[in-house]
Amino acid sequence: MVFDFEKEKLIAELKKRKPKKVLVQLPEGIKKEASKISKLIEALGIEVIFSGQTCWGACSLAYFEAKALGVDLIVHFGHAEFLRTDIPVLYIEIKDILNLNFLLEKSLEYLKKYKTIGFSYSIQHRHELEKIQKFYENKNKKIILSKKLGKIAYEGHILGCQYEGLKAIEKKVNCFLILGNEFHSIGAALAVKKPVFLIDVYNNKIKTMEGIKEKVLKQRAIAIEKLKEAKNVGIISEIKLGQLFGSAKYLVEKLKKQNKNVISISMDELTPEKIMNFYDIDVFIELACPRIALDDSARYSKPILTFKEALVAIGEKSWKELLESGLI
Ligand code: SF4
Repeated sequence: MVFDFEKEKLIAELKKRKPKKVLVQLPEGIKKEASKISKLIEALGIEVIFSGQTCWGACSLAYFEAKALGVDLIVHFGHAEFLRTDIPVLYIEIKDILNLNFLLEKSLEYLKKYKTIGFSYSIQHRHELEKIQKFYENKNKKIILSKKLGKIAYEGHILGCQYEGLKAIEKKVNCFLILGNEFHSIGAALAVKKPVFLIDVYNNKIKTMEGIKEKVLKQRAIAIEKLKEAKNVGIISEIKLGQLFGSAKYLVEKLKKQNKNVISISMDELTPEKIMNFYDIDVFIELACPRIALDDSARYSKPILTFKEALVAIGEKSWKELLESGLI
């Protein structure tokens, strides 16, 4: 994999903003580049600290870490702008340098029946957009980019928890095509009803998301039933600024009215180890990243639900409404 770290942008912005001390956040796959990036920043006379916390998404802005360290700028690599805070943030999106020709040609075999295609990309492929649009237009396909809605930074940009922009164009397209990885395309398949295909640049394949939704729905229906039967419930919130999908207070009140014992739990990052010692809890509801419950529930020893699913379990929403609005 070859990445372009937008070195010129980084240096130009740092010269303009003149910070004395910065906190740098790197996505997991890019942490190996820390020494290189450190040299670039130190050469400008700026003190640099790298966050060792995991940085799964744009929501994982190291705000509290930056406050504790007293830095005057956060440099957040690998994601587009998601949040603004009282501490300035410099977002460096990173470009993934690839030759997409083979995959674009290959995708036509899967898109034969479809004329109008809803298209979304993960941020590191944004620089390829114009070329991709031209390719499909020359093949007599119409490309409609997903809308810039919610916390999405650009038309066509995709995030694992923000699918309103795809839903907004769903009626106009025959299928969706996602350029990125499975995380985004599985999310899309859970959010929309039209067929979803992935240009999987990391495995050099085109994949259909057919059947994924049905499999996940079966697991989610079981988790919802478990919450209905549970006596002791734990509601987990993460302290990340960008992650609060639903209200813990609202659920505590509703669940208590149904004679359940409920506790509210706060943590920096939800992991199976961190909840293991809450032995007496039968079911957890997490208000952090909805993808933890949807994609990773097999890693947890107890059932774990999203806010939307909890609403179904307590009778505030029907299963049909959940399916209509999409799991994410
Ligand atoms: S909440 Fe989850 S899906 Fe959304 S940006 Fe954060 S890590 Fe990604």
